[in-house]
Amino acid sequence: MILVFLEHHGGDLLTGALGVLGKAASLGDDVAGVVAGSGVRDVAAQAGRFGARRVFVVDDPALEAPLPQPRVDALAAVVGKHGADTVLFANSVLAADVAAGLAARLDAGLNWDLVDLVRDDGALVGKRPALEDSVYVDVGWTAEPRLALFRPGTFDPQEAGGEAELIDVPVTLEDFSTRATMIEQAHEEASGPSLEDADVIVAGGRGLGQPENFSLVEDLAKALGGAVAATRAVVDAGWYPYATQVGQTGRTVSPKLYIACGISGAIQHKVGMQGSGTIVAINKDPNAPIFEFADLGVVGDVHEIVPKLTELVRERTGR
Ligand SMILES: Cc1cc2nc3c(=O)[nH]c(=O)nc-3n(C[C@H](O)[C@H](O)[C@H](O)COP(=O)(O)OP(=O)(O)OC[C@H]3O[C@@H](n4cnc5c(N)ncnc54)[C@H](O)[C@@H]3O)c2cc1C
Repeated sequence: MILVFLEHHGGDLLTGALGVLGKAASLGDDVAGVVAGSGVRDVAAQAGRFGARRVFVVDDPALEAPLPQPRVDALAAVVGKHGADTVLFANSVLAADVAAGLAARLDAGLNWDLVDLVRDDGALVGKRPALEDSVYVDVGWTAEPRLALFRPGTFDPQEAGGEAELIDVPVTLEDFSTRATMIEQAHEEASGPSLEDADVIVAGGRGLGQPENFSLVEDLAKALGGAVAATRAVVDAGWYPYATQVGQTGRTVSPKLYIACGISGAIQHKVGMQGSGTIVAINKDPNAPIFEFADLGVVGDVHEIVPKLTELVRERTGR
């Protein structure tokens, strides 16, 4: 059985976890989800639509806060009681902690940062980018259970319909698992769609010149009903929050339209957005690497072109 850790927040299963669930279901194996939390039966039931025939529910008030260690207990209980030869996770801060904790608990091998999982002669083989994402290497496991953590945004959820059987699994938490308590949770206020859900992303780089000029990118994104992203150069410089960084050490996104404003197109940025449907680049340097993989290139100054583009879009959309 392949078990998929179904992370949830605010009453919804996360898109990344549902994507991994869909991938697991496509391998044709016996696939089950596991949802851990407090009052989460309704949340768990959502997984049926996305390919889970069974969902193990570990429902306990002690699992209310999104802390990793109690979830390690929950997953260890499911693996111990129901057996699972493979446990899959979609990367997030929480999922990475849970996966690492479960690997230590079960003395299992954990492959990290995978972008695919295939069957090869009956054996499960993971695909992992290496050497700054310039090559893919095959990775495997020498023992069961096999644990794997997938890069964010790797798979889209597959809505296939159907209902999941919910199976309650009781858990006894270890003493050491309850020592950490959640004091406070902060949520960043954001308007518009998230980077993962947006059909349109407008991204800004160092070519914007100064942090205040991110308003150009924000205005265009708003007019298009899209989300704003940034390169690591501007995130490192403190111009824009890390949560918006796209690339090797940030998020992987695949909108229908990606507009790169003042971005050179370094390989570490490219790997996070090359799956976009149409890539438009605005850069004043005709030799910028981004023009090698953009579908449409505009050679010019972002300060002139972006406001004009925004105006034209506003005329059409009224936003
Ligand atoms: C291990 C590692 C991991 C990394 N991870 C990431 C990552 O996750 N994401 C990421 O983005 N980067 C990452 N980087 C950094 C990456 O190598 C680049 O340095 C970064 O992407 C460059 O950002 P940039 O395009 O904003 O800046 P620059 O490379 O400085 O490019 C700015 C561009 O703006 C153009 N420009 C300047 N002025 C204007 C103007 N007025 N109008 C139009 N165009 C203009 C310039 O011609 C230039 O092409 C990583 C690097 C390493 C080593």
